[in-house]
Amino acid sequence: MENSVTRRVYDKAPVWLQNVAVGLAGLKMYQQRYGNAIFKEAIEFLEQSLKFSKTEMDEYREEQLQILIQHSYDTVPYYKELFSNAGLSPDDIKHSEDLKLLPVLMKETVRVNGEKMLSCDVQRRDLISVHTSGTTGKPLSFWWTKEGVAWEFAFVWARRREGVSFDDPFATFNSRMVVPINQDKPPFWRHNRVLKQTLFSIYHMNEDTLDLYVRMLSESNFRYYAGYPSAIYTIASYMIDQGLRCDSVPIRVFTSSETLTDWQRRAIEKAFNTKVDDSYTNVEQSVLLTQCKYGNYHVNYEYSIVEFIPIYTERDITLAKVIGTCFLNKAMPFIRYDTGDCVEIKTGDMKCPCGHEGPAITKIHGREDDLIITPAGNVVGRISRIFKPGMPIRESQIVQHEDGSLEIIIVQQSGYSRDTEEQLLDELSKRLGDSTQVRFTYTDLIPRGKSGKFRAVISHYRPSKAWLQTTHLNG
Ligand SMILES: [Zn+2]
Repeated sequence: MENSVTRRVYDKAPVWLQNVAVGLAGLKMYQQRYGNAIFKEAIEFLEQSLKFSKTEMDEYREEQLQILIQHSYDTVPYYKELFSNAGLSPDDIKHSEDLKLLPVLMKETVRVNGEKMLSCDVQRRDLISVHTSGTTGKPLSFWWTKEGVAWEFAFVWARRREGVSFDDPFATFNSRMVVPINQDKPPFWRHNRVLKQTLFSIYHMNEDTLDLYVRMLSESNFRYYAGYPSAIYTIASYMIDQGLRCDSVPIRVFTSSETLTDWQRRAIEKAFNTKVDDSYTNVEQSVLLTQCKYGNYHVNYEYSIVEFIPIYTERDITLAKVIGTCFLNKAMPFIRYDTGDCVEIKTGDMKCPCGHEGPAITKIHGREDDLIITPAGNVVGRISRIFKPGMPIRESQIVQHEDGSLEIIIVQQSGYSRDTEEQLLDELSKRLGDSTQVRFTYTDLIPRGKSGKFRAVISHYRPSKAWLQTTHLNG
């Protein structure tokens, strides 16, 4: 389905043929991800590295960093020039703290330098083209290696699929347009029999069709669901509303690619009587954060070196931007890449009850989930927490307009009243003061972005302070 011709052919084909096409595409993906020895080796390594002592892990990371730096200097024209201009040699970057000698790599720099950032040591036929979704700002295109893809999926299976196995049947809810957009008759899903995967369309969910989605989930034996939290939440909230049950509950729901809100998690766990496991990574492979059973996110140290640059600290939480240097991509190495994303980290007693030694990250603000800025220039990162458990709200979105004013868009549930609005205004003024203008808009449906992603917070406000502009907003 790469171009408009194949798209048109696919859309006109009967459902059984679409299933075959989805299966074939799945087979190609399967071979790319798992069809080589590297995947197996990587899985074995990631099992062993769980037992690494801190010293062993530090040694591994420094070794990986040195390999990456030497490789980048020797084979990537952009880095050769960067090192020369800065008067540095690869020997100057031996430890993670030495990375500070190099500048932060911005998305725009990658875009401007294009092929100058490509390693001449990687064969063209081994390159895999990827791009960011471009739901905000311009999409960024670059390359991965086959080895990098195999490693990426080894991380998926070793760290992001706890409790399930490769052979388990599963359901996915992501941006792939498997059902023609104009189709108004079921089925609103397609099957990839090779992977035992059923791909649900996230573009066909509405009051007339959700019943069918629930019935399909209930009658199938899916061991787990994976995909956008907003899509799985839409089904969950419909079930709660209608008093529906899913007879075949998944043992886990794995969410990623969007910011998971507290209200989405609660509804999904309630409707499907299961547990949500969220993880965060980006196409640029800068950082992999996975959630422990205490709900905190932790850094996977074998994946990349992550720097958290503090923006501000409020009580026991520090909001920090995320900079990553990934070991996986040797085709187009991203050293000190600014992800454009921010996280909230617990300060003080850093140790999480799960035993992880590093930072305990409590919340992720992805690029899809902007920060709000007050007229005084304060960055407000936890704005969606104005919505409290039990509030009669199905879905909400906070939009900050170009003039700095806020629009709170709400899909109400029964019981919503003037009191709820007052409560929200009160919560807002606690966080923003009284100088930000606020208005409420009520609707039946909050539109998704082009790639089907839901954004809980969107800011169009561009404050004049330069540091704020480079800190966040539309990465
Ligand atoms: Zn933990």
